[in-house]
Amino acid sequence: MNNYLTQVFKNTAKLSKLVYHIGELEELRKPSNEVKIELIKTLEIKKVITDLKATLKKYRKLSGKGRGIAAIQRGIPLKIAVVYSFEKVITIINPKIIKTSAENYLYPEICMSANPIIAPLKRPGWIEFEYLDEDGIKQKWNKKDSTKETKILNRVFQHEIDHMEGIINIDKVSSKTLIFESDPEFYEKAKFEEVKINK
Ligand SMILES: [Zn+2]
Repeated sequence: MNNYLTQVFKNTAKLSKLVYHIGELEELRKPSNEVKIELIKTLEIKKVITDLKATLKKYRKLSGKGRGIAAIQRGIPLKIAVVYSFEKVITIINPKIIKTSAENYLYPEICMSANPIIAPLKRPGWIEFEYLDEDGIKQKWNKKDSTKETKILNRVFQHEIDHMEGIINIDKVSSKTLIFESDPEFYEKAKFEEVKINK
Protein backbone atom coordinates (compact mmCIF):
# COMPACT_ATOMS: atom_id res chain seq x y z
CA MET A 1 0.00 0.00 0.00
CA ASN A 2 1.31 3.44 -0.77
CA ASN A 3 2.08 5.93 1.96
CA TYR A 4 -1.00 8.01 1.35
CA LEU A 5 -3.41 5.10 1.74
CA THR A 6 -1.55 3.81 4.78
CA GLN A 7 -1.86 7.22 6.40
CA VAL A 8 -5.60 7.51 5.67
CA PHE A 9 -6.32 4.10 7.17
CA LYS A 10 -4.06 4.72 10.15
CA ASN A 11 -5.93 7.93 10.87
CA THR A 12 -9.27 6.18 10.46
CA ALA A 13 -8.24 3.43 12.87
CA LYS A 14 -7.07 6.00 15.42
CA LEU A 15 -10.51 7.64 15.41
CA SER A 16 -12.60 4.49 15.16
CA LYS A 17 -12.95 3.87 18.88
CA LEU A 18 -14.44 7.29 19.55
CA VAL A 19 -17.79 6.77 17.82
CA TYR A 20 -19.95 3.94 16.51
CA HIS A 21 -19.74 3.40 12.76
CA ILE A 22 -22.31 2.33 10.20
CA GLY A 23 -22.60 -1.45 10.36
CA GLU A 24 -21.58 -1.47 14.03
CA LEU A 25 -24.75 -0.19 15.66
CA GLU A 26 -28.25 -0.66 14.24
CA GLU A 27 -29.60 2.24 16.28
CA LEU A 28 -27.60 4.68 14.15
CA ARG A 29 -30.40 4.27 11.63
CA LYS A 30 -33.28 4.52 14.10
CA PRO A 31 -34.84 7.70 15.51
CA SER A 32 -33.60 8.69 18.96
CA ASN A 33 -35.92 9.54 21.84
CA GLU A 34 -36.77 13.03 23.02
CA VAL A 35 -35.29 14.00 26.36
CA LYS A 36 -37.96 14.63 29.00
CA ILE A 37 -37.64 18.28 30.04
CA GLU A 38 -37.66 17.44 33.75
CA LEU A 39 -34.63 15.20 33.24
CA ILE A 40 -32.39 17.71 31.44
CA LYS A 41 -30.63 18.94 34.56
CA THR A 42 -30.17 15.49 36.07
CA LEU A 43 -26.76 13.93 36.53
CA GLU A 44 -27.56 11.28 33.95
CA ILE A 45 -28.11 13.82 31.15
CA LYS A 46 -25.24 16.03 32.33
CA LYS A 47 -22.97 12.99 32.01
CA VAL A 48 -24.11 12.41 28.41
CA ILE A 49 -23.41 16.05 27.49
CA THR A 50 -19.99 16.00 29.17
CA ASP A 51 -19.14 12.79 27.33
CA LEU A 52 -20.18 14.25 23.96
CA LYS A 53 -18.12 17.40 24.50
CA ALA A 54 -15.06 15.40 25.56
CA THR A 55 -15.40 13.04 22.59
CA LEU A 56 -15.76 15.87 20.09
CA LYS A 57 -12.73 17.61 21.57
CA LYS A 58 -10.68 14.44 21.34
CA TYR A 59 -11.81 13.77 17.77
CA ARG A 60 -10.82 17.28 16.72
CA LYS A 61 -7.48 16.99 18.44
CA LEU A 62 -6.69 13.71 16.69
CA SER A 63 -8.04 14.56 13.25
CA GLY A 64 -8.23 18.33 12.95
CA LYS A 65 -11.87 18.00 11.86
CA GLY A 66 -15.33 17.27 13.26
CA ARG A 67 -17.87 19.99 13.99
CA GLY A 68 -20.58 18.11 15.80
CA ILE A 69 -21.56 14.85 17.43
CA ALA A 70 -24.96 13.34 18.22
CA ALA A 71 -25.58 11.13 21.26
CA ILE A 72 -26.49 8.10 19.14
CA GLN A 73 -22.94 8.09 17.75
CA ARG A 74 -21.88 7.20 21.28
CA GLY A 75 -24.65 4.58 21.50
CA ILE A 76 -27.06 6.78 23.46
CA PRO A 77 -30.47 7.01 21.71
CA LEU A 78 -31.41 10.51 22.92
CA LYS A 79 -32.01 13.70 20.93
CA ILE A 80 -28.89 15.49 22.15
CA ALA A 81 -25.99 16.86 20.08
CA VAL A 82 -23.08 19.20 20.71
CA VAL A 83 -21.69 21.48 18.01
CA TYR A 84 -18.69 23.79 17.76
CA SER A 85 -20.16 27.22 17.19
CA PHE A 86 -18.19 30.47 17.04
CA GLU A 87 -15.35 29.16 19.20
CA LYS A 88 -17.69 27.68 21.80
CA VAL A 89 -19.56 24.43 22.08
CA ILE A 90 -23.32 24.53 22.15
CA THR A 91 -25.70 21.78 23.16
CA ILE A 92 -28.95 21.22 21.33
CA ILE A 93 -31.69 19.04 22.81
CA ASN A 94 -34.98 18.00 21.12
CA PRO A 95 -34.52 20.34 18.11
CA LYS A 96 -37.50 21.12 15.88
CA ILE A 97 -37.01 22.64 12.44
CA ILE A 98 -39.57 25.39 11.81
CA LYS A 99 -38.37 26.93 8.55
CA THR A 100 -36.08 25.86 5.72
CA SER A 101 -34.49 27.98 2.98
CA ALA A 102 -35.65 27.48 -0.59
CA GLU A 103 -32.09 27.58 -1.89
CA ASN A 104 -29.95 24.48 -1.77
CA TYR A 105 -26.20 24.09 -1.65
CA LEU A 106 -23.93 21.18 -2.40
CA TYR A 107 -20.99 20.40 -0.13
CA PRO A 108 -18.80 17.32 0.42
CA GLU A 109 -19.79 16.26 3.92
CA ILE A 110 -17.89 14.08 6.33
CA CYS A 111 -19.60 12.02 9.04
CA MET A 112 -17.58 10.62 11.93
CA SER A 113 -19.69 7.46 11.73
CA ALA A 114 -18.96 6.94 8.02
CA ASN A 115 -15.33 8.11 7.96
CA PRO A 116 -13.50 7.99 5.49
CA ILE A 117 -16.48 8.21 3.13
CA ILE A 118 -17.39 11.68 1.90
CA ALA A 119 -20.95 12.43 0.77
CA PRO A 120 -21.42 15.33 -1.65
CA LEU A 121 -24.78 16.37 -0.26
CA LYS A 122 -27.36 18.96 -1.24
CA ARG A 123 -28.96 20.73 1.71
CA PRO A 124 -30.95 23.93 2.26
CA GLY A 125 -28.66 26.93 2.83
CA TRP A 126 -30.20 27.65 6.24
CA ILE A 127 -32.78 26.39 8.67
CA GLU A 128 -34.57 27.92 11.62
CA PHE A 129 -35.08 25.63 14.56
CA GLU A 130 -36.02 25.64 18.20
CA TYR A 131 -34.25 23.56 20.80
CA LEU A 132 -33.59 23.28 24.51
CA ASP A 133 -30.18 24.18 25.86
CA GLU A 134 -28.46 22.23 28.62
CA ASP A 135 -30.34 24.21 31.27
CA GLY A 136 -33.64 23.18 29.67
CA ILE A 137 -34.25 26.72 28.36
CA LYS A 138 -35.91 27.12 24.98
CA GLN A 139 -33.61 28.67 22.35
CA LYS A 140 -33.92 29.49 18.69
CA TRP A 141 -31.36 29.32 15.88
CA ASN A 142 -32.10 31.66 12.98
CA LYS A 143 -28.74 32.90 11.72
CA LYS A 144 -28.75 33.33 7.96
CA ASP A 145 -25.85 35.66 7.16
CA SER A 146 -23.48 34.57 4.44
CA THR A 147 -20.33 34.27 6.55
CA LYS A 148 -18.54 30.96 6.18
CA GLU A 149 -19.07 30.11 9.86
CA THR A 150 -22.84 30.61 9.71
CA LYS A 151 -23.10 28.61 6.50
CA ILE A 152 -21.13 25.71 8.00
CA LEU A 153 -23.20 25.77 11.18
CA ASN A 154 -26.48 25.67 9.27
CA ARG A 155 -25.20 22.54 7.58
CA VAL A 156 -23.82 20.95 10.75
CA PHE A 157 -27.10 21.47 12.61
CA GLN A 158 -29.00 19.76 9.78
CA HIS A 159 -26.48 16.90 9.84
CA GLU A 160 -26.90 16.40 13.62
CA ILE A 161 -30.71 16.69 13.49
CA ASP A 162 -30.65 13.99 10.79
CA HIS A 163 -28.66 11.74 13.17
CA MET A 164 -31.44 12.14 15.74
CA GLU A 165 -33.89 10.84 13.14
CA GLY A 166 -31.67 7.87 12.27
CA ILE A 167 -30.42 9.37 9.00
CA ILE A 168 -26.76 9.38 7.99
CA ASN A 169 -25.53 11.72 5.27
CA ILE A 170 -24.47 8.88 2.96
CA ASP A 171 -28.09 7.60 3.01
CA LYS A 172 -29.24 10.80 1.29
CA VAL A 173 -27.07 10.59 -1.82
CA SER A 174 -26.60 8.13 -4.65
CA SER A 175 -23.81 5.71 -3.78
CA LYS A 176 -22.18 6.54 -7.14
CA THR A 177 -21.41 10.06 -5.96
CA LEU A 178 -19.64 9.02 -2.77
CA ILE A 179 -15.95 9.90 -2.51
CA PHE A 180 -13.41 8.01 -0.43
CA GLU A 181 -10.76 9.90 1.43
CA SER A 182 -8.41 7.06 0.53
CA ASP A 183 -8.82 8.02 -3.12
CA PRO A 184 -5.54 9.72 -4.07
CA GLU A 185 -7.52 12.30 -6.08
CA PHE A 186 -9.76 13.01 -3.09
CA TYR A 187 -8.76 16.62 -2.59
CA GLU A 188 -9.31 17.38 -6.26
CA LYS A 189 -12.70 15.70 -6.41
CA ALA A 190 -14.03 17.09 -3.15
CA LYS A 191 -13.91 20.84 -3.48
CA PHE A 192 -14.58 22.04 0.03
CA GLU A 193 -16.75 24.93 -0.98
CA GLU A 194 -20.49 25.16 -1.09
CA VAL A 195 -22.00 25.25 -4.55
CA LYS A 196 -25.44 26.75 -5.05
CA ILE A 197 -27.86 24.35 -6.71
CA ASN A 198 -30.90 25.44 -8.68
CA LYS A 199 -33.92 23.37 -7.80
ZN1 LIG B 1 -22.43 12.45 11.37
